Amino acid sequence: MNGRITFTMIKPGAVAKENIGPILKIINEKGFHIVAMRLTQLSTLQAQTFYAVHKERPFYNSLVQSMTSGPIVVALLEKDNAVEDYRKIIGATDPAKAEEGTIRKLFAESVEANAVHGSDSDENAIIESDFFFNHSERFYKSIK
Ligand code: GDP
Repeated sequence: MNGRITFTMIKPGAVAKENIGPILKIINEKGFHIVAMRLTQLSTLQAQTFYAVHKERPFYNSLVQSMTSGPIVVALLEKDNAVEDYRKIIGATDPAKAEEGTIRKLFAESVEANAVHGSDSDENAIIESDFFFNHSERFYKSIK
């Protein structure tokens, strides 16, 4: 994976705790450029669709409920090797296993309310950006 874009969400718990600013500061300090961004709130259908890959998992309903519980920030980020480098700075899914200094170590409340989402492949980065940004190709066309 060596694409130049990734997609992130700052999840409801982190937004509620006023951690949008601190998280964006780290994102910028680590060399990511914010290409597109907005504050929104997921409907149940949107959260179910976004996390459809997990629909058989025991935590699916709880995850959907948590992700719809308040506003989130969605953003398209640009950097060399964006997907892999962003996964490194957010840390492991379970904050108890995340390395010191990672966003999840710093801001997650639990494995479910783990502060941020980060795409896991170049392909999903584009699918996820398209999910939130109309005509998102206008943002990443120039950087592909
Ligand atoms: P990610 O790529 O690191 O976000 O992890 P996954 O794709 O495996 O899971 C998606 C999201 O589901 C995670 O970010 C968590 O919010 C949530 N999640 C994952 N594993 C668990 C779990 O064991 N329990 C609960 N309650 N939520 C989980």
